[in-house]
Amino acid sequence: QRFRVTAAPLGPDAVSGILVCLEDITPLYEAGQMRRDFVANVSHELRTPLTALMGFIDTLQGPARDDAAARARFLGVMAREAGRMNRLVGDLLSLSRVEFSERQKPEDRIKLSDVLRASRAMLAPEAGQDAVHLDLGAGEGQSDIVLGEADQLRQVFNNLIENALKYGGAESPVEVRLSLTDQDPYLRSPAVRVDVRDHGPGIAAHHIPRLTERFYRVDEHRSRELGGTGLGLAIVKHIVQRHRGRLAITSEPGAGACFSVIIPTAGAAPRS
Ligand code: ADP
Repeated sequence: QRFRVTAAPLGPDAVSGILVCLEDITPLYEAGQMRRDFVANVSHELRTPLTALMGFIDTLQGPARDDAAARARFLGVMAREAGRMNRLVGDLLSLSRVEFSERQKPEDRIKLSDVLRASRAMLAPEAGQDAVHLDLGAGEGQSDIVLGEADQLRQVFNNLIENALKYGGAESPVEVRLSLTDQDPYLRSPAVRVDVRDHGPGIAAHHIPRLTERFYRVDEHRSRELGGTGLGLAIVKHIVQRHRGRLAITSEPGAGACFSVIIPTAGAAPRS
């Protein structure tokens, strides 16, 4: 805990008394510490690809100048590193945008089954037509409508489905299931629930509460190899909060992971 002590004389001379004020500034200190950690993390994440790029530029200007095969190989690696920086900057912008807008609740009526179809269609060219199995079940009716912002909701499901494809192993398809609940016990309102489930190695229980922290990764090397920025789930959490919803993560190690997004239905969401 951190305290700030301030003292001021009560009258023109210190004899009449001194007012001493003891203030608990722990939350302020913690917020400052989080900001410092974040800046340090961003700098580290940017410096890694930047250092690689600078090294390759040196090599291309020197030893590899006349070696066409080496040049082509190095340019490929440079393009990958530049892509990594680009994704990182894109995710940082998304995160700052959603944090900035968090208090302002989105008001468009969005049908979640449409958002899920769009996410699958977007990912299909790279992942394959059968990589994602959609079960829209009970959500085909009117009531899978939430108050939201379509782009942000698409980003939530793109991130979750991409993660399930990346970390879930390619053997069995990712299952995306939409269902409706009359009363979500935590939100205390009718809600739409979307489960994104994979059948990969899953996640050990002690990692689960930390997954939505910025730059938290279970396996940093693997995340980097797969092109991850470590920000995807932080973005998901903030968008879901902005939509008055909640994110639940469950996993049975060895049998896969399930990320559930639960958002109040449009009729149920309190207007801000
Ligand atoms: P990244 O860019 O590293 O994928 P995310 O914020 O999206 O960052 O995810 C954080 C970490 O959570 C990942 O690095 C990975 O270790 C873990 N993770 C996310 N989704 C899954 C999943 N479906 N199965 C196993 N681990 C996962």
